[in-house]
Amino acid sequence: MELESLITILGSGGIVTDPSLNSAYTVDWTRRYSGNTPAVLLPKTTEQVSQVVKWCYKNSVALVPQGGNTGMVGGATPVNGELVLSLKRMTDIEEVDDATGQIVTQAGTTLGDVQQAASRHGWKYPVDLSARDSASIGGTIATNAGGSQVLRYGNTREQILGLEAVSGTGDVIGDLRGLSKDNTGYHLPGLLCGSEGTLAVVTKARLRLVKPPKEELSILLGFRSLIEALSIVEEIRKSLEDVQACEVFFQNGLDLVCEKFEIAPPWNAHLGAYLLVDIGGQIGLEERISNSPLSAFLNTSNFVAYGSDNLSRKKLWQYRDLHTEAISAAGVPHKLDVSLPHGKLNEFCNDVQEIINTIDNETQLFLFGHAGDGNIHVNVLGPSPEDLEIDTAVLKYVASLGGSISAEHGIGRAKAHHLNLNRTTQEIDIFREIKAAFDPAGILNPGTIFPQ
Ligand SMILES: Cc1cc2nc3c(=O)[nH]c(=O)nc-3n(C[C@H](O)[C@H](O)[C@H](O)COP(=O)(O)OP(=O)(O)OC[C@H]3O[C@@H](n4cnc5c(N)ncnc54)[C@H](O)[C@@H]3O)c2cc1C
Repeated sequence: MELESLITILGSGGIVTDPSLNSAYTVDWTRRYSGNTPAVLLPKTTEQVSQVVKWCYKNSVALVPQGGNTGMVGGATPVNGELVLSLKRMTDIEEVDDATGQIVTQAGTTLGDVQQAASRHGWKYPVDLSARDSASIGGTIATNAGGSQVLRYGNTREQILGLEAVSGTGDVIGDLRGLSKDNTGYHLPGLLCGSEGTLAVVTKARLRLVKPPKEELSILLGFRSLIEALSIVEEIRKSLEDVQACEVFFQNGLDLVCEKFEIAPPWNAHLGAYLLVDIGGQIGLEERISNSPLSAFLNTSNFVAYGSDNLSRKKLWQYRDLHTEAISAAGVPHKLDVSLPHGKLNEFCNDVQEIINTIDNETQLFLFGHAGDGNIHVNVLGPSPEDLEIDTAVLKYVASLGGSISAEHGIGRAKAHHLNLNRTTQEIDIFREIKAAFDPAGILNPGTIFPQ
């Protein structure tokens, strides 16, 4: 490939061609997907992104947009030798607007840096996930990332007030005016959010900030069974206004986290399920909790631990936050991020092992996730990366229960062949037409969402 024109656009510091240096961009976080690329392109400005995409459009060269490369579905991996367009150098936070509670940033800024910038100005950016220090704002927009606080604040789509992006022809589209009300035709940010780099490259975003809670409290709860835990999730929803997060994990995941990171378990017990609940709001949280119907359970259970300051809350959160890393340290997982109707969550968690066992009874299964959203991360260790038999069986089971085969990670390459489990042929045809309108040459992330 003739790369001289790209060097002219980006400068020699803006392009990496040495394969020994670009491996960080060609293997995904889970190590399940890998590829190769003639070059990693590192623009600094929207204008450079536009010129690069125009060059690719003219020369029919495919490219894969990439942010922090923490995606879970192989959507940022150049598996067919595409160029990698990394937004890593586009990290300017242009404005924190105190008057409106909005932040404007380039898309390569990490989620953690946006959270900190908001916090320095007395605001909070309410999307949070444990890959916060690597995941980029552009990546969280492209995947419509969820995370632990969806229950309270909604997913990424609900935070976007404006986007700037570069379409598959290299045109700059969108706006960053931040109007709360603007019903002029189709909603571009809504469409681009969750499009996984297949419609446009997100270059900047204007995001909504919220006022941070005055007081925060984390509570870890242990249960004999998941059904008992889920009845408390219902009670929490009904009786507490201040819930920010309600996470679930199980004994085998907790044991793995404690073993891998050499930390003590919360209790010397073997329990059926754990909930980690985060509460945040006006001063007086403990009083409000003790006046709620939840207090009867909290006062009688032997398995309740409170974290009220940063250190003790962090200690409780590590049991949940470290699941992804502990599982990846144990092997290359098949990651199936699914959501179920609330009434089906218990059935799914109880039966999924059996479904997997009919195919291979030597796998290891770890479940954890966002109980308040009915979102379970199914992690299977054992099958080879390219073996899709277990993935297919689990995803079919999810669809049969009325669930979603992708709650928050996206379709990527991992689930492209399974999109029809949740979407009709007509819907997929419309999706393809939308893609062709944004990206007529099909150069943006081919193979993601739609199988090649
Ligand atoms: C430890 C850990 C915990 C996680 N927890 C959660 C969680 O709780 N909730 C959740 O939703 N996800 C979670 N994730 C998954 C991941 O962090 C998110 O999907 C995140 O949004 C990806 O951001 P990224 O910048 O790393 O994107 P990448 O991995 O680089 O890319 C992901 C997708 O977005 C596209 N893309 C990236 N940047 C752009 C751009 N600027 N314009 C257009 N397309 C782009 C890529 O082409 C690809 O399809 C977790 C990951 C890890 C490693």
